Amino acid sequence: MSPDKYLKNYINGALVPAESGNYLDNVNPAIGQVYSHIPDSDEEDVKKAIAAAQKAYPEWSTTEPRVRFRLLMRIADIIEQNMQAFAEAESADSGKPVSMAMSVDIPRAQSNFRFFATSILHFGAESHHMAGEAINYTLRQPIGVVGCISPWNLPLYLFTWKIAPALATGNCVVGKPSELTPMTAYMLSKACIEAGLPAGVLNIVHGLGHKAGQAIVEAPEVKAISFTGGTSTGKKIAATAAPEFKKLSLELGGKNPNIIFADCDFDEMMVGTLRSSFSNNGQICLCGSRIYVERPIYDRFRDELVKRTQFLKVGDPSSSVTDLGALVSKGHMEKVQSYLSLAEVEGGTILCGGTPVEMPAPFEEGYFLRPAVVEGLPIDCRTNQEEIFGPVVTIAPFDTEEEALAMANGTQFGLSATVWTKDISRANRMAEKLQSGIVWVNCWMVRDLRTPFGGVKNSGVGREGGQEVLRFFTEPKNVCIKYG
Ligand code: NAD
Repeated sequence: MSPDKYLKNYINGALVPAESGNYLDNVNPAIGQVYSHIPDSDEEDVKKAIAAAQKAYPEWSTTEPRVRFRLLMRIADIIEQNMQAFAEAESADSGKPVSMAMSVDIPRAQSNFRFFATSILHFGAESHHMAGEAINYTLRQPIGVVGCISPWNLPLYLFTWKIAPALATGNCVVGKPSELTPMTAYMLSKACIEAGLPAGVLNIVHGLGHKAGQAIVEAPEVKAISFTGGTSTGKKIAATAAPEFKKLSLELGGKNPNIIFADCDFDEMMVGTLRSSFSNNGQICLCGSRIYVERPIYDRFRDELVKRTQFLKVGDPSSSVTDLGALVSKGHMEKVQSYLSLAEVEGGTILCGGTPVEMPAPFEEGYFLRPAVVEGLPIDCRTNQEEIFGPVVTIAPFDTEEEALAMANGTQFGLSATVWTKDISRANRMAEKLQSGIVWVNCWMVRDLRTPFGGVKNSGVGREGGQEVLRFFTEPKNVCIKYG
């Protein structure tokens, strides 16, 4: 399965260009050059996709779960058989190391299909018995045509995290991947065709957010929107979808605290903290970008973090020794650099990194940045309040648990938090009081797909994962039967 130069939409089971015939450039961020083109879809393409999904819905929604199971498993198998090609495509689109795509992105995309293929075989509903009077049972029915819109940082991983449960529960989908990283979604279209997924069950429309994405959100026929992306985009989507009474799942930005107590296992914490700071160039919504360290170990931590950060290898995404590849786009690199300038204006000291990497051919024009550690900023400054979503962490000392909590909870976001301590009582106290959807203790990014996934505050509305997402993609209907 090879990536193509001109990508196509996947509508009604076929690969087709945009109705307008227009294309957008797709840039490989490691070389800073256009390497393929994607359909510049608009409302007309979205209408066709919705019509195909509506046509497919009556049959798909009543297909036996074991048939859906088999089809989703087949898609997973095809992804697995083409793992290397998918990983290379993910790397070419996003700049991430192929090794990361091989170990994280693509295996997880397969797991998403397998997990929800099997989940649907075990999905049940409730009954409520009113003794001597009546019995209520709940039907869990698919919603209809749903929209799945995903970002660029974990392209196939997050796209399939939505699509797989939506399809498993019997919905038909109009999906849109990020215009910055469309290739693996295009390859997924081919995998669906090869797997024999019936026409119209899944439709993938490529293009810009404010055009193709907005058309999906606006369409009255689309009854639910599952969106992952930035908080400001989430706000726009909510404003459009709420008056239409659409079901909404919004997985938005984060500014996650990493709280380190002096009694932690220092070595384990350092390994975990380096990962949570700079994995995928800090471009994971769950990265811990604000690091708070108990004062007795602050100096030791700072010196060790700077040393290890300087040791990270930034470079050729195809090399197996590369830790960090390129940032996703020129615009994003400029945004990250602008926050580093802001950090200095706000009184911070950049202890290491933050400068572009001079790369040999063919990467001279690529978007490579050295990971940065910043010290000396107050909690309420913009650098500590706004999501940078790049290889930048800020560090600060704290003296008490209360102070650490106040700092950790002191932003508009509430996606995830990490706590490093050997004191289990303290871990539990912190977990209870942290304002976030996910708390990791002595680990980071340990993921069990059965668990609820999502944020509080401005990090989102609703939960993905496990039973939560199966509930999101179904409507509960109560049936009450009175005894005779
Ligand atoms: P983005 O909001 O710019 O775009 C996300 C998707 O929405 C893209 O496909 C885009 O084309 C589309 N879009 C943009 N405007 C739209 C509109 N008006 N209507 C419909 N669709 C529209 O986000 P991004 O820059 O691609 O991704 C980075 C953001 O995603 C970060 O804020 C990050 O924290 C967040 N994120 C969150 C999670 C999570 O699970 N909470 C996971 C990954 C990324």
